[in-house]
This record gives sequence, C-alpha cells and structure tokens, in this order.
Amino acid sequence: MFRKIISAFLIAVLLATLSSCALLRSVDESASVDTTEKITEENKTEGANVTESDTEPPETSPMYSVPVKRPGDPFTVCIDPGHGYVDPGSTSDHLGGKWEREIVREYAEKLKSELEAEGVRVIMLWDEDVYVTAAEVAEAAKAAGVKFAEEKLVDDRRFAAYNRSVWANVLHRETYIDAFVSLHVNTYTADESVWGTRIYYCTETENEAASGKLCTSISGAIGNSLPSQKVRYYADKAEDAYVVTKVPEMASVLVEIGFVTNEAEAKNILDEKWSDSFVDGLCRGILACKS
Ligand SMILES: [Zn+2]
Repeated sequence: MFRKIISAFLIAVLLATLSSCALLRSVDESASVDTTEKITEENKTEGANVTESDTEPPETSPMYSVPVKRPGDPFTVCIDPGHGYVDPGSTSDHLGGKWEREIVREYAEKLKSELEAEGVRVIMLWDEDVYVTAAEVAEAAKAAGVKFAEEKLVDDRRFAAYNRSVWANVLHRETYIDAFVSLHVNTYTADESVWGTRIYYCTETENEAASGKLCTSISGAIGNSLPSQKVRYYADKAEDAYVVTKVPEMASVLVEIGFVTNEAEAKNILDEKWSDSFVDGLCRGILACKS
C-alpha cells in the first residue's frame, strides 16, 4: 500500500502549488483529561525552539501541494481509531479487561459500515497489521508535498498523534478527505461521577469553519440519537487543542465517546444497542456535513 501511495504522490507533486498550513504551530498539550494522544512535554519543548523561519524549506525543496477534490469524488471520511500498536489507550475496572484500543476499533468498524451503507467512501487511517514508521511517514509526506516538521514525528511504535495527522494529510492527497474523525474513550479517575460525550475541534486552522460545523453537527445528532446522553463540544484554540484536530488539513474532530471511569457510562459504551445508537448519531452528524 505504501509503495502505491508513494508512486501516486510523485505524480501528484507535479501539480503541486504552494500552500500555507497550520503545521508550524507548536504541537502541545491540551487541557483535556485524556492525554495519551498528546505530544509529550519533551517534544513540546523541542518544538518551542523551532521558529517559523527555521522551518521554512530551503529553495530546493519540492513545493507543497494542495489537496484537490476532483469532480465526481465521493464524500470521503477518514476514521482514526485512537491509540493502537504498543499503545492500548485507557481502561478502567468497569470494562471487564477491555482497553480503549479495542473499544474504539469496534466503534470505528461500525461507523465505517454505516457510512458505506450511505454511499460514503471511508478510509480507516491505520491498521494493526501495518505499522507506518516515522521514516515512512516523512518519506511519503515529502513525496506528496505535505508540509510537516520532521522533528515532531515520533518513532515509538505507537503511531503518535502527530504521525497519524501527517499521515492523514498524505492520504488526503491521494484520496480527497472531507472529514477526519478520531475516536476515543475518556477517563477521569479523580472523580468517577464525571460522564458524557465530548467532541473537540480547533478554531485556529484554515478548516475552522468546516471543523466547527462537523463538531456541532455530530454533537446535535448524537443528542438526537441518544436523548439521555450528555453531549458537549469544545472549540479549542491551537495552544489547547488536540494534535489530531489542528494538524489535519481537512475538517477534523476528536470524539471522546464517554468516560470509562464512570461505571454506568462504561456499561453503556460496552452495550451493543447503546453503541449502535451512538454510531448512528455520529453517522447522521457526519452525513449532515456532506457537500
Ligand atoms: Zn484516547
């Protein structure tokens, strides 16, 4: 798959033009309780030393490309099941031994099936069987003309948030992506009464309006599908935002399905019927943004 992508991009790069992009913003922590997808403090410090002028490419660099939606391209959604590989994500005593990685993969597969049944083209961002190394992400990004900061890529066998965001931008040039949805479950051990769905987007990107629309649309649709569920959305400034909401160059949101540290919510999350309703709301919310 990787070779195929590279060859496709070599052609795409010929058509490339300069674009500005949000990648020069520092990748840092969010105030949210789920920190496992965040770039580490060490990387944040390294990133702070990189100024815009430092990261401007030399004149010999290939030009950055702009993703292009071609006539007839179907509405396309990229699903990012959170965590994976050596990173199982979160768990709690209420999950019967299950981890976030397995749970969100199940939700992702359900969402994929439902979206495809509605005629949507779906890209699963990654698969447990194929690990894309940091070097491969960098090589593909360069070939595709994706603007990125190589020093922010992490080669730790967990496909870190920055790596997967750059990878989404690489795929975006092969297959235009209309919406990027990262799925997670939340934890808050300090207060297990905390519950509810939380959906995040970043306000300081070129896709702010589209991301905001996606976020509010999904929030409303989940509320309709599960009227008893508490659903909140958050419009984060770049300095507080999740990496996967500010680096992808398309409408992007991070969905925290619920808190697995809350016993009742954990039970809901594992419940087949509840998860069907949740995914149905998620699907309706995404479809409402179809252009
Ligand atoms: Zn997570």
